Amino acid sequence: MFRKLKIRLTLINLTTVLLILTFIFAGTYTLLNKQLNNQVDNIMNEFLKIGSEGKTPELSNIPTPLNMGGQDNPPEIFNCFVVKLSSSGELIEASQNNILSEIHTKELIRNTMESSQQKGLISMSFGTFRYTSSVNQQSKLIVFYNESMQRSFLNMLIVIFIIIGIIGVFLAFLSSYFIASKALVPIKRAWIKEETFVADASHELRTPLTVIRTNMEIVLDNENETVKSQKNWLYNIQYEYMKMAKLIDDLLFLAREDNKEKQVNISAINLSEIVLQTCNEFKPIVAEKHIELIVNIEKGIVIPGDDIKMNRLICILMDNAIKYTGSSGKIEVSCHRTDKHSVIKVSDTGIGISQEDITKIFQRFYRSDKSRNSEIEGSGLGLSIADSIVKQFNGTMRVSSKLGKGSTLEVEI
Ligand code: ADP
Repeated sequence: MFRKLKIRLTLINLTTVLLILTFIFAGTYTLLNKQLNNQVDNIMNEFLKIGSEGKTPELSNIPTPLNMGGQDNPPEIFNCFVVKLSSSGELIEASQNNILSEIHTKELIRNTMESSQQKGLISMSFGTFRYTSSVNQQSKLIVFYNESMQRSFLNMLIVIFIIIGIIGVFLAFLSSYFIASKALVPIKRAWIKEETFVADASHELRTPLTVIRTNMEIVLDNENETVKSQKNWLYNIQYEYMKMAKLIDDLLFLAREDNKEKQVNISAINLSEIVLQTCNEFKPIVAEKHIELIVNIEKGIVIPGDDIKMNRLICILMDNAIKYTGSSGKIEVSCHRTDKHSVIKVSDTGIGISQEDITKIFQRFYRSDKSRNSEIEGSGLGLSIADSIVKQFNGTMRVSSKLGKGSTLEVEI
């Protein structure tokens, strides 16, 4: 899929470069050709006018400048010559700047006479000529312009353009391919992350669904039994349902946060109160596990934020500290202000996190082997949510831990 995308991007770039080059080259060629033609037309008309006035159409009779803005005659003037013919088509005279031999001049006149057009272009073996003529009762005047130089110049220009075009397209191909490869790296990374996320989410949802289905089948198979006697199975269903509901809630939270540019509900919140209140909510669970809870909170810390999200962040840290600390352990929660920031610290004397896992625990669905293999419940989404909330507050989160000794999670906002 990415190979195809890379080729498509390269082709789009290449087509754009090709179109731009074609536009520039065709435009330059057309403008140049038009300007040269205009110059030649001016000169030819001037020669024709002088000839019609009965003067000898010599260079010396041509006024300068010929609408060219310069002082001297333009070089094009030397390619122009005039012939005067009798009414029967006999050559009466030719201007002196005609460098053609008499044979070639007569051949040129004959070819011109054969065409009935007053103006035109004639290709001879000795050059390409433009001509224009005027007739009166006694004579016919034909002005010729030798276009050979102009033609070869324009042909050379086409060859140069083609060479530049081929080199340009080749270079554009190489650079487009390189840029496309570079541009696809973050997209590929995001795609793989998304795919892993969907696979992990499906896997996490499948387990409770399977448990619910098997328990329901047991209940349905024993339809004559009382609800009381089947309580065990029904509790299992309820428990897995709640686990699944929490997982879906977490997934929805992360999906919503991913789509959000910045936090929306910002107001002044009393951090000290939120931390204290959350600690109080956890007191019964801590007591049940015989964990010592030490709370050390500086009063009156007010920061801009969102109280619901802040509560969720502290809940996650507290929940983990309790989950991963065995009974009779110790949890210390502190909240204080430094010069620039507010710091929330949750330390525990629990199972700890290995150095290798510290770099991974913020990844979605990541659980260390120790917690996965233990009876401790979890989905691996808690710290991803915590991290996303901290980032919304433009804060940072640090983890320090020693396996078997305990962990400290520190949030700086
Ligand atoms: P969950 O706790 O649901 O597994 P989290 O995202 O909250 O998911 O945590 C990810 C992993 O980080 C946990 O599985 C655990 O291995 C580790 N972890 C987080 N907090 C602690 C802690 N206080 N003590 C030990 N390990 C922890």
